[in-house]
Amino acid sequence: MTNSRHLDTKTIHAGKIKDNQFGALSTPIFQTSTFIFENVEQGSARFMGEEEGFIYGRLGNPTVRELEQRMAALELTEDAAAFGSGMGAVSATLLANLRKGDHLVASAALYGCTFALLNHKFADFGIEVSFVDMTNEEAIKAAIKDNTKVIYFETPVNPNLVVIDMEMIAKIAKEAELVSIVDNTFMSPALQNPAEFGIDLIIHSATKYLNGHGDVIAGITCGSKEQIENIKLTTLKDMGAVMSPQDAWLVIRGLKTLSVRVERHCSNAMKVAQYLEAHPRIKQVNYPGLASHQGYSLIGRQMRAGGGIMAFEIEGTFDDTVHFMNSLKMCSIAVSLGDAESLIQHPASMTHSPYEPEERDAAGISETLVRLSVGLEYVEDIIGDLAQALESMTNRIKQVI
Ligand SMILES: *Cc1c(COP(=O)(O)O)cnc(C)c1O
Repeated sequence: MTNSRHLDTKTIHAGKIKDNQFGALSTPIFQTSTFIFENVEQGSARFMGEEEGFIYGRLGNPTVRELEQRMAALELTEDAAAFGSGMGAVSATLLANLRKGDHLVASAALYGCTFALLNHKFADFGIEVSFVDMTNEEAIKAAIKDNTKVIYFETPVNPNLVVIDMEMIAKIAKEAELVSIVDNTFMSPALQNPAEFGIDLIIHSATKYLNGHGDVIAGITCGSKEQIENIKLTTLKDMGAVMSPQDAWLVIRGLKTLSVRVERHCSNAMKVAQYLEAHPRIKQVNYPGLASHQGYSLIGRQMRAGGGIMAFEIEGTFDDTVHFMNSLKMCSIAVSLGDAESLIQHPASMTHSPYEPEERDAAGISETLVRLSVGLEYVEDIIGDLAQALESMTNRIKQVI
């Protein structure tokens, strides 16, 4: 498969392995723990890396391998490694690039569990972390020390959707000889390719847009052959957060519709954001597709559209926010994102509860901030549901007054 084909075509064809035995169109699920060698010599050659081929499920599986090839093609990288979860990918990728005594510069606002890992667990391993505002070039440069090895961020930032300039980060990383790592879960390769801007490693929670159907927990890291081999031979093989063949097959199936799904997620989200922005009970809408947003200027240059996720602030109290969310009839109160269903959650009490209150303030996560992952439903039905819940909340506020 040539890389010149359009993304829409690549999501369906690129990286597919050919089933020479039966010609199956859909990739078989190789549900096997181990692989038989013809003889001792072959087994030995495979262990020595002298012969290509599979050995044991934790070291590789044909269905999982196909997903890795497909993701490398979509993210414009040489290779990829699949994991049992997004956090499996985050932890294995970071630990393959860090050791005791090293320092890491990370974005102040991150996915909640990534923040917990960096801020609470890494200290136990003697890995030091500085959290900085990644929109501030000078602050990033000032945070880099002699022992800094890695720069880690997400864009847009979870959950406030602040957009970080990847070209700027890659340049800083190259100058200081750091490994740059981005979590591209929110955009997916359908909307942005960090490798184009010089980012070294690209992580995905495949649980989200890549799979897209709310029925798998999985993760992927994309990068150079050398980096992926290092991760596979150390923190993947020996720490063991591998993806199952069944889950790989589901993600492959999800990927085939990635482009069409993301297109609808984006167009729905744009209309929902415009509706919310005009609503008197909404203080602010953080959606990169809106001209009022901090990241709007990077649309077109860095990302192809605003995505399917937004965060908005309720004009009211914490109790009003709870009432609004509890009044929704179609949008489900649930964490996760990128599914066919519209999902709404309250970061301060849910995904970002690992943050201390001061840490939440620093990351711009208020008590009335709500995150919405806009689904694939008919957009007027989504807006209708939000409208009736906002009306119920408004009536409650009037009664309280
Ligand atoms: C969900 C998510 C993760 C973690 O992925 P899991 O598959 O749940 O382990 C990491 N980063 C971001 C941005 C996410 O949304």
